[in-house]
Amino acid sequence: MPEKNLRIAVIGAGMAGILAGIKLQESGRRNFVIYEKADRIGGTWRENTYPGLTCDVPSHHYTYSFERNPDWSRHLPPGQEIQDYFERTCEKYGVYPYIRFGEELAEARFEDGRWQLVMQSGLADEADVVIAATGVLHHPRIPDIKGADSFRGHLFHSSRWDHGIDLADKRIGIIGNGSTGVQIISALSGNVRHIAHFQRTAQWIMPVRNGYFSEEDKARFRADPAALEAAMDTSTYQRGVEGYSQVITGDDGEGARYFNDTCRDNLEQGVRDPGLREQLRPDHKPLCKRLIFSPDYYEAIQRPGAALVTTPIERIEAGGIRTTDGALHELDIIVYATGFHADAFMRPMRITGEDGATLDTFWAVRPRAYLAVSMPGFPNFFMLNGPNGPVGNFSLIDIAEHQWHYISQLIERLERGDCEAVSPGEAVFQRFEEERIAAAKKTIWYTGGCRSWYLDAEGIPASWPWSFSRFQREMAEPDWAAFSLDPP
Ligand code: NAP
Repeated sequence: MPEKNLRIAVIGAGMAGILAGIKLQESGRRNFVIYEKADRIGGTWRENTYPGLTCDVPSHHYTYSFERNPDWSRHLPPGQEIQDYFERTCEKYGVYPYIRFGEELAEARFEDGRWQLVMQSGLADEADVVIAATGVLHHPRIPDIKGADSFRGHLFHSSRWDHGIDLADKRIGIIGNGSTGVQIISALSGNVRHIAHFQRTAQWIMPVRNGYFSEEDKARFRADPAALEAAMDTSTYQRGVEGYSQVITGDDGEGARYFNDTCRDNLEQGVRDPGLREQLRPDHKPLCKRLIFSPDYYEAIQRPGAALVTTPIERIEAGGIRTTDGALHELDIIVYATGFHADAFMRPMRITGEDGATLDTFWAVRPRAYLAVSMPGFPNFFMLNGPNGPVGNFSLIDIAEHQWHYISQLIERLERGDCEAVSPGEAVFQRFEEERIAAAKKTIWYTGGCRSWYLDAEGIPASWPWSFSRFQREMAEPDWAAFSLDPP
């Protein structure tokens, strides 16, 4: 057992917060709490319930490494199955008793070596260590479109789906063609009276299989974990992840050609009408925006009753969406599939570190963190899936597990009692940040000729700008020379 029984507060009971809970509990620690603002676990998978919701990471790779799931129904996991998986896992590992539901952190202040926490409810707590596991994409981005208030029908963001409405006889407009908009179109086209897809910027679409696992497959995976691991073909998956990250970091070689050729062939072969094909052809490089994997979007947008609208939106009116060519697209439902504020992270929480330093000031230009995990001036405050981590077409579960491995070593150091506060040194952090920004400017997100939510307010890509293998190496063990370790 550690020498010091530190109090640990985890913020958020989504995938990463549950992971922290499982790991803390497994290691014999009992002095921890998970604060969750909602009344259920699940984060993204609790909040997003739109038709067609799917994760585009292969299902068997979208699991905790220590809790495989033989029961996935499909190659790409449906949202509800993911939510069920987290609920089951949370129960199985005994994490529920540590979660305080309905408690949203309003403020955290570092005073006299401890974090003073205050919830929106007024509840107060003290912790030695805070782990922010608050997720990345959860504050809906509501577009500023004139006349939205005048719409007579139903209007909502994709992450606030109104399941009380029968869709079959409705005319539906979907604004946005990121992964969300594309998945909604695929699910609804052919099943509703009319669906219009409002596209501002064309996207490359990578074809993908999404077959079903047979009952025999699932029985075999249940009976034999080795068969499941073999079916996962992890080395091929990891080579794919590494190859993908090479393309992102600016390698124009074989990997880039593969994505280019595959996406182009998909477009050429998947869209029959030459006019529609040109409307769907992006003018930037594949992977500049987050790549969309879809088995059936092109088929869905070509069905009778589906329409692609590329003329810009002028305004929303009582009866629908008016485009700049004067046409009124009459609609009963408008869905904003317009994404999220990717720079919020744990904000709007008020977080004050050493010497009165506030997170809002530290992040005034952009969210930033040493190796995505910790920040100078904010001792014993660590993040899972924080800023500048590898957020993209990877399994965020795998990323959180690597980060947990790293963070747990920082916590152990505190528990051993050889220091009282751990945070990266200011000079080390500045050097890191300069190197990160220089590398970010070489990535395809910067050079690929597009705008996306990967870019911060100054146009610098915010996601991990190096290879995935570098991320794995960095997370293997902290470079202790980079940290200020306040002695007891
Ligand atoms: P997104 O990728 O940020 O896409 C937002 C879309 O809305 C873009 O097409 C954007 O057009 C459009 N848009 C925004 N404001 C607009 C406006 N005022 N007028 C017209 N169009 C507007 O959002 P998302 O699809 O919700 O996805 C967010 C992220 O969630 C994804 O990138 C992904 O990381 C994650 N996600 C993952 C999965 C998965 O399978 N793993 C599934 C769904 C979502 P522009 O391109 O012109 O800006």
